[in-house]
Amino acid sequence: MVADAGTVGTAGRRGRPTAPADPSPLRRIPAGAALYLHVPFCAATCDFCAFDKQVPSPGDWQVYREGLEAEWALLAPEGPASSCFWGGGTPGLLKASDIRRIGDRFRRNLQPGAEWTVELTPQCLTREKMEAWREVGVNRLSLGVQSFSPSLLRALGRPHANDRVEAQVDRLRAAGWDNLNLDLIVAVPGQGPRELEEDLRRALALSPDHLSLYNLTLEEDTPLLARLAREGYRVDPENEAGLLEHAWDFLETAGFHHYEVSNFARPGHESRHHRTIWGMGEWRGLGPSAASQVGSYRFRNPHGLEAWRTALREDPPAVEERVELSPAERVLERAVFGLRTSRGFPVEAAAAVPGLEGILRRLEAAEWLRRGGDHWVPTRAGLLVADAIGREILASAGAGAPDFSLPAGAAPGNLQ
Ligand code: SF4
Repeated sequence: MVADAGTVGTAGRRGRPTAPADPSPLRRIPAGAALYLHVPFCAATCDFCAFDKQVPSPGDWQVYREGLEAEWALLAPEGPASSCFWGGGTPGLLKASDIRRIGDRFRRNLQPGAEWTVELTPQCLTREKMEAWREVGVNRLSLGVQSFSPSLLRALGRPHANDRVEAQVDRLRAAGWDNLNLDLIVAVPGQGPRELEEDLRRALALSPDHLSLYNLTLEEDTPLLARLAREGYRVDPENEAGLLEHAWDFLETAGFHHYEVSNFARPGHESRHHRTIWGMGEWRGLGPSAASQVGSYRFRNPHGLEAWRTALREDPPAVEERVELSPAERVLERAVFGLRTSRGFPVEAAAAVPGLEGILRRLEAAEWLRRGGDHWVPTRAGLLVADAIGREILASAGAGAPDFSLPAGAAPGNLQ
């Protein structure tokens, strides 16, 4: 659903499919890994969203809760995790009793002071649930605002009103929640610079520490794409790039560090969880469709509650899209991910893949990259075409067509 932003992934079609002969990566949770818990439910679905989610039927919550417990029991943590991200879907729909029951289990496997984020819609911020989130150790909230404008929310087909966000955030602040991310969408049909600035101004008035700013992607098989196609809507890439740059200037002037294509943080508030993933660290996802990267393996849980539940009857649990990345593929992925971030990609790491250095020099000549000390880093122009840079690196290195749709759980900034 978001373009060129927060959904980078490359291994889906490239890595070598592997038979599940060695089950150990399917069980492992390496010490220091990032944990991801996927909630597959939404109270109502948004027309632009292509994530794995469903409107829950009676009984689904119990299936989900018991499934998470069963999945956890099949896994073998090797030490405490460095971060946890509870996303979806809509984790805010969980009952306070489920938050406590599930959260308590995971809290015990986190490092002291670990970042623990939960994605919430502003509509789910009840006092009882917020107390439960705090009790289990959640210390960072990510609110899916997307836009403050009722007409832009309608244009997105998002059935959530945002008329009380300011009052809700005031209540959060009063209750001591001080590590807050807001998600906004750019390039919504009908959004011009004036509407964009209004959204940014209202967001900044809430003093967030972090902002995720996603460029709307019209995903296949979404109601929004079907509607816009019927209406003869045409994407205007130049207009989108202009809006993005306008937003980036606005946020940088306001003191935010643009540390990833779609992510901005005040000093000291970059997401540690996202950093782990963009840095090709290890992460373990639990829940339907959650992705994992463990050692050289990447895999994903089955889509849908039932398929996931069925997979948990096997030991180790059955997974989909399991691939093993070669050392060279991992370097390429590190380059693709790193070149979406302000940290970039180490110059010396390119030597591990024949031809990669030449590709990076060509991208430098195109003024998409520059040398920043001992790293290659993206220029402003490069950030605007980060997906294209990724494709160029993989294609030029003969790695085949990349899959830029990293599965749920691996992609930071899932929209709420
Ligand atoms: S955008 Fe969020 S709330 Fe809307 S359908 Fe997708 S996951 Fe659910």
